[in-house]
Parts: sequence; C-alpha cells; structure tokens
Amino acid sequence: MSNAEIILPSSDTIIILRSELERHLGRLLLSPGAALTGSLQRRHVTSGLELLVTQLEFEDVVPNADAWSLLADRVVVMVNHDQHIRCEEMATICHAGPSQTLLCILLDPVDRERMDVCICERSSIRRPARIGLIGPELKWLPEPSAAPVPFDETTQSRKRDDLRQSRTRGGLGATEHDRSRHLSIAFIGNGGGGSELTRQLVATLDPASVTTFDNDAVGYENLNAMPHASWRDAKARRNKSTVLAQALNRNQPGLKIRAVPFSITASEAIHIMENSRFDAVFTFADNNTARLAASWLCRTTATIHIDCGTLIRHDNNGHRSMRADCRLFEPSQTCIGCSPPMEDLRDALYDLSAPEHSLKKGRINRWNATRAGTLHHFNAFACSLTANLFLDYLSGHIQRSHWIRALWNQGHLPELTETSLVASDDCPFCRRKTSPNNSQ
Ligand SMILES: [Zn+2]
Repeated sequence: MSNAEIILPSSDTIIILRSELERHLGRLLLSPGAALTGSLQRRHVTSGLELLVTQLEFEDVVPNADAWSLLADRVVVMVNHDQHIRCEEMATICHAGPSQTLLCILLDPVDRERMDVCICERSSIRRPARIGLIGPELKWLPEPSAAPVPFDETTQSRKRDDLRQSRTRGGLGATEHDRSRHLSIAFIGNGGGGSELTRQLVATLDPASVTTFDNDAVGYENLNAMPHASWRDAKARRNKSTVLAQALNRNQPGLKIRAVPFSITASEAIHIMENSRFDAVFTFADNNTARLAASWLCRTTATIHIDCGTLIRHDNNGHRSMRADCRLFEPSQTCIGCSPPMEDLRDALYDLSAPEHSLKKGRINRWNATRAGTLHHFNAFACSLTANLFLDYLSGHIQRSHWIRALWNQGHLPELTETSLVASDDCPFCRRKTSPNNSQ
C-alpha cells in the first residue's frame, strides 16, 4: 500500500459488536505493540456496503498480512498509544497486499469511542460513512443530527410535529429522545400482542422507520386484542401487517412504514431482513419457528433481538395464571434457542429447514391446545415491560442480554424476576460460527 495515499469518502457502514471489542480491550490497552485481528463479513444493504467485524482475536505483535490468503478480508485494531501512527499507515505496517482488504481501526487510548477507521482495498483507501457500535447505548458514529427533517417543511406542520413530540421528549429526556428518533425497527408478528408492542414502541420512541412482518389475516377472534382493527378488516380477512401499518399511518403520518405481508420464514421476508440494517428486531410470534428464524437472522446481521411472549392458563380449580417473558438478546452472545433451552427446538429446527410451503411436522394443534386464551390488558402489560427493557438497554442501564419474567396469578399482585442471559455451550445456533474464517 502506498504512503502517498488519497483517502476517498464512501457510503460504507462498519458494524462492530461492542461486546466483541470490549472482550479484548483491557488487554489491548495494556499491551503496546499488540493488535486485534478478525474477519470481515460483507453485506449489501439498501444504504450501500456493510462491513461486519467478526471473530476478533488478540495478537501479541503487529500482524503480518503475508500469513493471510491473497484475497483475505481482515480487520486490524490497534491502539494509538503515543499518537505516533496514522490509521492510513496501518495497512503498510501490516504488509497488506493490493489484493487484500484491510479494515484498519485505530483507537484512542483514553476515549475508547474515539476511533479512526479506514478501509484499504485494491491500493485505495476510503473512509466509511458511519460506524455502528452495536450493544448497550447503540451508538452510531458520527452521531446522527439532533433534528431529523420533519415530514412537511411548512412552519405550521413543523409546529404540530414539535408539539406532538413534546410530551414524549419530556418523558424520555432530550438525549434518549434524540437517539430513539433515528431508530429503524422491525416488528415480526403483528397479531394482538405484536400490534400492541408496535404501537407502544412507536409512541414511546418516535422512531424514524418501522417495518412490520406478518402473513396472517385479521379474524373476528382477533378483534378484542386488536382495537385498531375493524369488523370490516376481519370480514375482508385483511392482512395483519397492512392493517397495523395503516393504523400507525393514521396516527403518525410522518412515520416511514413498510408492511411486509409475509411470514419471517418466507423467502421474501428473509430477503428484506438480509438486505436491511435494523437497529432492533422485536418478535411477538405465536410459534417458535418464527422466533428461531428471527433470532438466526439477527445473529447473522448483528442486530439486537427482543422477544416478548405471554401465556394464560387455568388450573384444575379454574384459577387463572398469566406468564410473560421479555428477553433481549445481544447478537453473538446468546439466542432464543438456548436461553433458556427452547422446548420444541427439534420441531422448530425441522420446520425452519424444511422447503418453503411444505407441510408442518406433527399434528396441527387447536388454538387453545396449550393456552386458555388472550387478554388484551395482559398483552399490554407484557409489552410495556418489553418496551422498558429496550429503553434501559438504550440508555446503558442494562449492559447484557437480559430476561424479565412476570407471573401474575389470580388474586395476587404480579411477581417480577430478572436475570442476565448466557448461551448454552452446545447451542447449535449461537455457538456455531456464522461464516468461515477466511484469513488463512
Ligand atoms: Zn443459543
């Protein structure tokens, strides 16, 4: 790589998992001359090329690119201890060849979020447009501007927009509100629970864009749990994601909404997930196959996954018990298959690997085979716990994968417990590497 470099701007996005970086950071800061190396995963998303940093490992000495394959895509992370190197020189220091792609990250020894980043490829050097630090606080560098463009430029509509946001901004605080207004969120499962979760989070976060996924149609049996839907929607068997998107649009015409009338296991939905950058993906689905598919897609795209589920049962004495589980999974840390172990994992894996539109394995259960029914107030309760779990993660009060369980037995107050989530060592999903290490 030439020292007389020209540095070009680009539309590239760099994605770094905070947990992956921080795993080695202490040792790296104490070891002048050492480096981290890892693989790069390329993804073409709507905004351009995304380079995902994976499998970072500590190296005692500056890595030598001669040891890598001629077509290697690698990342090298160094600390600029005495401010004596420039990021643009890192490829030369590592002896990277013109056929190799090297993502160079130079960290400031004091401010760990201050980093200089460049991509050296084919004898040219370019700067990424933005860097995503995926983890607690969910940071984008450079930070998005504080004031997104309102949906209408007229003074009147700007005033209305400001007035509308004033209560949410007051509730969240300016810092959190500024951050949440730039989020792009996906909601998988738009039935009674999922639509409630979407409406709560859209109202609480004021996000920039929302994508809804559901292939199911509204039925009369759904109307109590979906107050935004009408008898006409049920009669016409209109798609749940479309009905939800239209209700959101009526309330928030400035919100960018995309309704996807497909199951998350359908190729159309998978294609969208694989080609988009979401800040978070929420699931409130009635089957574990959809949950598992979402979990897998979040893992391969380094996206935060938050799942919510409820279960209502009656015991032999007719007493009602209600249970809600709200789980936040950091990508690469753990997954829905193992935290805790999924009861019907084998069946869900079978359904996930079966050809599209093939028959489901086993008997088709009636809607009330494992649950008594649905109660809207309990869905709303579970959704508010889930929304708050995400807010705590966004503000950095929760730092790791997290699980909140609510048990609410008839005649009692709800009992809440919480714990961090840890992956099972033998999980076939999150303990298996997503891409081969192409460095050697
Ligand atoms: Zn797992």
